[in-house]
Amino acid sequence: MRDPRYDILFEPVKIGPKTTKNRFYQVPHCTALGTFSPHATAKFREIKAEGGWGVVNTELCMIHPSSDSSPSGGERLWSDDDKPGLQLMVEAVQKHGALAGCELTHQGALAGNRMSRERPMSASPRPAMDVPAVVRQMDKQDISDVRRWHRAAARRARDIGFDIVYVYASHMMGLPGDFITQRVNRRTDEYGGVIENRARLLRELIEDTKEEIGSDCAVAVRFGVDEGLGDAGYTCSGDGRRVVEMLAELPDLWDVNVQNINLDVMTARFADEGWQEPFTAFVKQVTTKPVVAVGRYTSPDRMVSLIKNGLVDLIGAARPSIADPFLPKKIEEGRIEDIRECIGCNTCLSMQYMGGAIRCTQNPTTGEEWRRGWHPERIPAKMSDERILVIGGGPAGLEAALTLGKRGYSVALSERSNFLGGRSVLESALPGLSTYRRVADYRIGQIHKLANVDIYLGSEIEASDVADFDFTTIVVATGSTWDRDGIGKANRFPVNGWDQPHVITPDNVMAGRTIEGPVVINDDEGYYLGGVIAEKLAKQGLDVTLLTPDPEPSPLLKYTSEREAVHQTLLKLGVKLVTARRLVEIGADEVEAHCIYTGKAIRLPAATVVMVCLRSPNDSLLHDLRRTVAENPPMFTVHAIGDCFAPGTMADAVHSGHRVGREMDQTPIGDINYLIEKPFVREANGWDQFASGR
Ligand code: ADP
Ligand code: SF4
Repeated sequence: MRDPRYDILFEPVKIGPKTTKNRFYQVPHCTALGTFSPHATAKFREIKAEGGWGVVNTELCMIHPSSDSSPSGGERLWSDDDKPGLQLMVEAVQKHGALAGCELTHQGALAGNRMSRERPMSASPRPAMDVPAVVRQMDKQDISDVRRWHRAAARRARDIGFDIVYVYASHMMGLPGDFITQRVNRRTDEYGGVIENRARLLRELIEDTKEEIGSDCAVAVRFGVDEGLGDAGYTCSGDGRRVVEMLAELPDLWDVNVQNINLDVMTARFADEGWQEPFTAFVKQVTTKPVVAVGRYTSPDRMVSLIKNGLVDLIGAARPSIADPFLPKKIEEGRIEDIRECIGCNTCLSMQYMGGAIRCTQNPTTGEEWRRGWHPERIPAKMSDERILVIGGGPAGLEAALTLGKRGYSVALSERSNFLGGRSVLESALPGLSTYRRVADYRIGQIHKLANVDIYLGSEIEASDVADFDFTTIVVATGSTWDRDGIGKANRFPVNGWDQPHVITPDNVMAGRTIEGPVVINDDEGYYLGGVIAEKLAKQGLDVTLLTPDPEPSPLLKYTSEREAVHQTLLKLGVKLVTARRLVEIGADEVEAHCIYTGKAIRLPAATVVMVCLRSPNDSLLHDLRRTVAENPPMFTVHAIGDCFAPGTMADAVHSGHRVGREMDQTPIGDINYLIEKPFVREANGWDQFASGR
């Protein structure tokens, strides 16, 4: 039962004409599903409502084709044709007693309009961000058009039943925000100059929306109160505060954050929980309207203190609600230890930029609610008496053991080392990655509750051992090993000199090997570990060079919004960045690298070379087991999961562990790694056909 300390979190809050049943507020957040996947979206949001969130919002919902976010997801209320898709979500959310909110948006300068071919427009002209175009300056007719489109979209949102309708001016992609910042707005008319003028469009959109639908729906404003750029932008003690003061009582709710999305969504590597508080804390002092703010909060104690200290009225969450859609229910039921805490890795966000569907490291059911029918808290009971051995207790093996255990199978988990967690624990000792440990901690805690899962530590399994037991299924989750030979994205053959003792890998670094400088880190992978190791070694006082064939360090981290933070951190620590160079030769105390464009050679001193290139699956046991099965059928079935099948992200490993657990007992189709023929259903021929009834 609920701890009375947390009662305050379950108090209702009035938001204009609506009342939310509690203070758990899923702020709008992207999913890469949206308008193209209405059923998946509806189920994804419904699960959160079922999990107890009092308010569940959409993601950015575009009001007009001049704000077209394709090819990434996003919602649309461009016309009445878009209503049925979003109506699915409204009904699904409200079924569980939650309020449904819609974040109406015009993206202004940020709209790429790749599909609609409308010209991007904003307060003042500038080159567009991601498309080769100039953002044109809006004239009075454009402004009046935007107001008209916003009103029309608000009516549509109201008509399909939304409880809360937003005016969006945040994350550098809400048009009224473009007008507010002088970095964009160079106008000399009544929409430019003094802050009263620059905030005029925001005021007008709030007033329009209130007038249009204000008696039926609550009107919320999402506003980045500080650009997070110091004196280079507006701040929460200057114009940001002034805007909230001027418009304080106009909306029914203030949803506040930091304007620069890369700062607002910072990963745990670069920002602790609640880091936005110094920026947003003032808002409650200048308005009587309810205030919601985010901070990657997962602890109910912290949530209570935020409310008691008068920082917010509602606990805003995007990532914590993805990692655990049932977070409120678990607090309500006194099951705090069951909360699956977000690790702040931004894998979820990366899918918005990469394209695809939302996924989560901690919650493998994310994005799979509709298409695979995976519920984060419910799982079908076992359909046979399989006795299952899971070999390897990393993220994949732990998730497989947990999922199979929850289904009721008899499971043994053997782990060679004397700890569980594999790479999630090893990497958690690196700078900024301490939260990665939560991947192991959550699963270990849950497995300990299951009487049918036995864990054997210090238990290295060989193929010959398995025949001695009577397991019917073996799940191999033995992970992967970093290679030393330098084969990577740019180098397709081993690098000359790779087999010298001073050439090491991330595995050696994580195992605590003493390292001599100067160090060259050859990052031919481009994800996070090269930069993290550079940070670690530089903090130890070593002379560090990060060498990469890519044009920048850790290029894949642009998708997790970490590009600026990575550069800042490495440059501040004095790490030398040598980009667009391919490692070609390793000598006794220096390396040679060639420019990838001209071939021009440079030499860098190196007492140690760390190769962050390719990982190879630890699959010798897997092959031995497959041979055993081939020679003596049908002894047992073998499945490979996680990095041992194909090295990937931790999210991939957890997902594959979950999948083997879900799909156990379903009709196999021959390939031993894929258990069922149609792993997921697809939206019927795309949303456009669904909408027009074809
Ligand atoms: P993944 O991300 O796929 O879970 P990890 O590398 O994090 O991979 O975890 C793999 C785990 O498997 C490690 O904890 C490792 O110690 C363990 N392991 C590897 N080989 C064996 C084996 N033969 N018997 C038992 N455990 C093993
Ligand atoms: Fe949190 Fe990472 Fe899951 Fe996103 S992907 S919700 S940041 S654990």
